Amino acid sequence: MELYDVVVIGVGGMGSAALFHAARCGARVLGLEQFDIPHDRGSSHGQTRVIRLAYWEHPSYVPLLRRAYELWHELEHVAGRTLLVTTGSIDAGPAASRPMRGALEACQRFDLAHEMLDAAALRRRFPGYRLPRDLVAVFQPDGGFVLPEQCVLAHVHAAQAHGATVQMQEPVVEWTADADGVVVRTTRGSYTTRRLVLTAGPWVGKIAGALRPVVSVERQVVMWVTPRVPEYFQVDRFPVFYLHGSEGSFYGIPMFDGRGFKIGKYHHRRQVVDPDAVERVCDAEDERVLREAIRHYFPDADGPATSMETCLFTNTADEHFIIDRLEPRVVVAGGFSGHGFKFCSVVGEILAELALDGASRHDISLFTGSRFKGFRTRNPEP
Ligand SMILES: Cc1cc2nc3c(=O)[nH]c(=O)nc-3n(C[C@H](O)[C@H](O)[C@H](O)COP(=O)(O)OP(=O)(O)OC[C@H]3O[C@@H](n4cnc5c(N)ncnc54)[C@H](O)[C@@H]3O)c2cc1C
Repeated sequence: MELYDVVVIGVGGMGSAALFHAARCGARVLGLEQFDIPHDRGSSHGQTRVIRLAYWEHPSYVPLLRRAYELWHELEHVAGRTLLVTTGSIDAGPAASRPMRGALEACQRFDLAHEMLDAAALRRRFPGYRLPRDLVAVFQPDGGFVLPEQCVLAHVHAAQAHGATVQMQEPVVEWTADADGVVVRTTRGSYTTRRLVLTAGPWVGKIAGALRPVVSVERQVVMWVTPRVPEYFQVDRFPVFYLHGSEGSFYGIPMFDGRGFKIGKYHHRRQVVDPDAVERVCDAEDERVLREAIRHYFPDADGPATSMETCLFTNTADEHFIIDRLEPRVVVAGGFSGHGFKFCSVVGEILAELALDGASRHDISLFTGSRFKGFRTRNPEP
């Protein structure tokens, strides 16, 4: 049996980035993916993902985001193509709400360029937005979107250029770790490795029993529509948004590459699912949830739907990530709670550091698994 330095289970958003960073360090690396690369059954498909710096969720994310931006741009250079499109970002909601206070705090604390706009000023500046008068907005010019399928492929191709082996259509059945190494068994064979990285996304609770009690998988739906006034929803006239309204929180992305205006609702219908038994067909209720927000906040986008897609969140109770050592030789990254993709580039760097060096240069103390009862870790490496 060949001995690898690092085996990565799950070649989606995080796994592809981990493969690249580990291979770039000269490690002998194998990535194992159960489906195609990329595919549309996990969490990293659907053309676009919002990236934003005015991060209200917690100030710890902003330094990681700065590094993520740097690494996305490096990857664009390596891949020779655009992976990140800058549109600016809008965070909108009631002035006293936690997201609005958090977004402003991030801007002030990290000296991020930003402007506060009331609903009328927002509409004058970006006419696709028609928010009620009781909502305010923070505009941050560095926001935009990344292209998830292209990012996964770019990381995989760059990893392969550094000698990584990447095998698709090869589900991992089990792994066992001891003091000598880790054995990974798939439907096709067995592999031995010094270190294991688990980036199985919605399946992380199935492949890492320690995470089973602390994550839950949730069905999401996004919809693309052809706006009634398409010129208001172009990349150069419509910043991506995160909007906290009376019906819940929504996110959206301008028209790009022939597809329409895209909208989704965080925790769409709060449907907890098994990732192997998800209802992938979207129904009238899925459309109604998103249509209601379009009519309320973006009436000029209220044209026919062109497509709807399902996707999966893997949530933790506090909606912060889990990036931790599970056993001395095993690192896990999961529970990205619907906001992880923008971080893939830096999470890949972190996972390669944890696997190869035993520690990361980045502050990841917010993401320890042991903050949850039920998450088991053995002693860390000496
Ligand atoms: C609708 C929607 C909108 C989102 N919007 C945003 C956004 O705007 N901005 C943002 O930053 N984030 C967003 N997110 C969240 C983000 O997309 C996820 O956090 C991120 O994609 C998670 O990546 P991952 O690598 O953990 O999972 P995945 O990309 O799903 O990768 C996991 C991989 O592991 C493989 N795998 C699992 N088990 C096995 C096994 N046993 N053997 C082999 N392979 C296995 C899977 O097939 C899969 O390919 C959104 C998510 C959804 C669903």
